Amino acid sequence: MIDSQDSATQRILLLGGTTEASRLAQALAAARMDAVFSYAGRTDAPVAQPLPTRVGGFGGVDGLCQYLQAERITHVVDATHPFAAQMSSHAVQACARLGLPLLALERPAWQAQAGDHWQHVPDLASAVAALPTEPARVFLAIGRQHVQPFLDVGRHWFLLRLVDPGFELPAAQGAVVLDRGPFTLANDLALLRQHRITHVVAKNAGGLGAQAKLDAARALGCPVILIDRPAIPHRPTAGTVAQALQWLGVAPADTGVHAATDRGV
Ligand code: NAP
Repeated sequence: MIDSQDSATQRILLLGGTTEASRLAQALAAARMDAVFSYAGRTDAPVAQPLPTRVGGFGGVDGLCQYLQAERITHVVDATHPFAAQMSSHAVQACARLGLPLLALERPAWQAQAGDHWQHVPDLASAVAALPTEPARVFLAIGRQHVQPFLDVGRHWFLLRLVDPGFELPAAQGAVVLDRGPFTLANDLALLRQHRITHVVAKNAGGLGAQAKLDAARALGCPVILIDRPAIPHRPTAGTVAQALQWLGVAPADTGVHAATDRGV
């Protein structure tokens, strides 16, 4: 345990938006910890949390500092997505400014296995450039806000999997399926086969909830263009919910989370 403050005097800000964040929220609620869950507000109907929840940006580092002070937060756990680099950087800066303990809950990056055909690229622009010269049928598993540069290439057909309705593609350009993770291998195998996918583009998010598309690509011999994680300033990091609870001084017996079953989904 890094911090020695009694858990009875803690008030935790949990920055969410991932499956891990939701699992930590369940554990904190079960242990009756004083905690606030924070969503950016990107999806229309975010997963309901068993903690008091706020939605929307804080207003940069200054706004986050004001919030932390006004809410008398004593500990921050950043369980945002590994690609939410701006929020994570703001958390590092705000906690350093106020002298607050900060922990990142971050799942390890995916590693290639035998049978994978992965091309690692450093960013979205490189992923666009890595698309084949021949027309391809691409499962573009990156979220809707970064889709346009791929569509602009023109010669490929794209399958998008989105959480919210409202984004359509002309049939000649692609298709949209609505779904929310965690995803299964059976589902993603069927999806890739149904749409005759030849290439997958994905962010190296890590974790099990979104891994099925990579397992399906391996099974089908389908090449994957995998975008590396953005750089984030150094901060203490836990790889599992159980480790995050330990850092907070919460006994696993109070939460139902045990290291042996904490798979970091
Ligand atoms: P980002 O670029 O790092 O953040 C942009 C701004 O959104 C932040 O500066 C902050 O606004 C606000 N924000 C982000 N996360 C927040 C949170 N949990 N609570 C309150 N405000 C938050 O983040 P992003 O990549 O757009 O991701 C937004 C959210 O979606 C994150 O919570 C992330 O966990 C989730 N998500 C992202 C991805 C992805 O691929 N990027 C995938 C799945 C889920 P202010 O500066 O105004 O405070």
